[in-house]
Amino acid sequence: MQVHTLYEGSYSVDATKKFIPFDPVKDKAKDRPASLFVHVQPFLVAMEDQLILFDTGLGYSTEEGKLILHENIRKAGFSPDEVTMVLMSHLHFDHAGGMIHQVGEQVELSFPHAVYVIQRGEWESAFSNTSSSYKKEIFEFLQRNAQLHFVEGSGALNAQISYELTGAHTPFHQTFLLDEGDEKVFFGADVLPEPEELLRKFIAKYDFDGRKAMELRQSYGERAAAENWNCLFYHGKSRATGFVTLEDGQFKIQ
Ligand SMILES: [Zn+2]
Repeated sequence: MQVHTLYEGSYSVDATKKFIPFDPVKDKAKDRPASLFVHVQPFLVAMEDQLILFDTGLGYSTEEGKLILHENIRKAGFSPDEVTMVLMSHLHFDHAGGMIHQVGEQVELSFPHAVYVIQRGEWESAFSNTSSSYKKEIFEFLQRNAQLHFVEGSGALNAQISYELTGAHTPFHQTFLLDEGDEKVFFGADVLPEPEELLRKFIAKYDFDGRKAMELRQSYGERAAAENWNCLFYHGKSRATGFVTLEDGQFKIQ
């Protein structure tokens, strides 16, 4: 499997839940109190017979009006039209923004040839949720225009692609595991957003169920080490992907 990191940018997020671009060269962290600093990076994975996109980023465009996500897919050597499956962990704006994009006055589906795979409970709660993390206009457009495939609970899309309903970050957050025999790729999304989160135990305020998220990080870390998963870190700053080892109760990222 070929994994490409589609880096969309570095941001700070505070209690308003807005993602403000953060340039470490000219911006100072101390000017943004009570903020979380994250990268946003969807992933493209070329499997034997599928081209998979994991989450779609904020959906920001370049100054020339091109979707950054599309540009990154082209840089990786593919066309956005070749994406066969968009696997969505959950529908917060920093993950779902790029499912559609603006072209001039028009809104277009970003991946017209792909099936968008979404956990049904997440989809339903995204419509009724009043939090600013969910942008309803995206889902309404998707409902009319996209090939949607809803999954419920945990299961498999085919022999290589499985999904697991985790909850924890949102009530219906899900993770994905790609398995082509010797090679396994794990997308933990916001249950395992940064490699450092494996190194210390903590309960995060931004999770719907912080204790469950902490327990899931521990068990995913153990499985990642035991089964040699290549882990994709959607918000990772120090690294975007990595393998995990576990020695004397301590995780390490290679
Ligand atoms: Zn996120």
